[in-house]
Amino acid sequence: SRNTDVRPPWIKVTATQGAEYRDLSQLVRGKSLNTVCQQAACPNIFECWEQREVSFIVGGEDCTRRCAFCQIRTGKPGPLDRDEPRRLGAAVSYLRLNFVVVTMVARDDLHDGGAWLIAECIRQIRSQSPDCGIEVLPSDFGYARNPERGGESLRTVVDAAPDVFAFNLETTRRLFSDIRPAFDYERSLEYLALARELMPTSTAIKSNIIVGMGETDEEVFDCLRDLRQAGVSLVTIGQYLQPSDGHLRVDRYVTPEQFAAYRTHGLDLGLAHIEAGPLVRSSYHAGDQAESAKAW
Ligand code: SF4
Repeated sequence: SRNTDVRPPWIKVTATQGAEYRDLSQLVRGKSLNTVCQQAACPNIFECWEQREVSFIVGGEDCTRRCAFCQIRTGKPGPLDRDEPRRLGAAVSYLRLNFVVVTMVARDDLHDGGAWLIAECIRQIRSQSPDCGIEVLPSDFGYARNPERGGESLRTVVDAAPDVFAFNLETTRRLFSDIRPAFDYERSLEYLALARELMPTSTAIKSNIIVGMGETDEEVFDCLRDLRQAGVSLVTIGQYLQPSDGHLRVDRYVTPEQFAAYRTHGLDLGLAHIEAGPLVRSSYHAGDQAESAKAW
């Protein structure tokens, strides 16, 4: 039951619909475009769309993994749709976007874990919208279980040269195996460090932490230190909100003051940019984050 889940006043969205947001909504209407912004009912949609920044999810609607916080369905994915990158490239151009985030479900059924798909999305967007910033947020391509193959997949994405490469830790070391059973904390850090090593310095490496799933503040600080040591320069931290009764319950609501303390700590550690706040999500202000990383 949700009876104990009383949301504090700071979990509140102020919805102001600006001109760019309205324009984008018009363009999206009637097209079959899978934006994460709409699907996940993201609280920041008005703000991001006003900047013409949109997140898309590719690779289908079924994920081969099951993370305790995630609302994406777990199941057996259909065959790879090799035309999807072309359509995505056309959509980004049609919507005249400034910055796009391409995320995907885990596709452990594919030999490359979906690396070709992500790389081809980058190439298609680049060729049709050369000025659009591109962030990708794939899975670990199976790195945790098979580092060699995962590393090969990572190279496929490196060759396509995204502006930002993101891989989310999502939770702290102690909670990791319960919350993300198909991933591994140490291996995730290794994977981020490998991304830092392989990507050109102009590509920012980014990660996200969700709080309110049972971790302590001290553990969040440890996570930030581990991410920094792995070479990550951009971090986002936001509050966990239970997507349905079947999901993990909210352990606590972190106060805005505590989020500010995470941010200060991250900057002290030397991160280029850190967004931390109750409604911060991985792609929040993604374009600005990428800019900060360039200036870093
Ligand atoms: Fe959700 Fe990603 Fe975990 Fe799949 S791997 S359940 S999409 S968080």
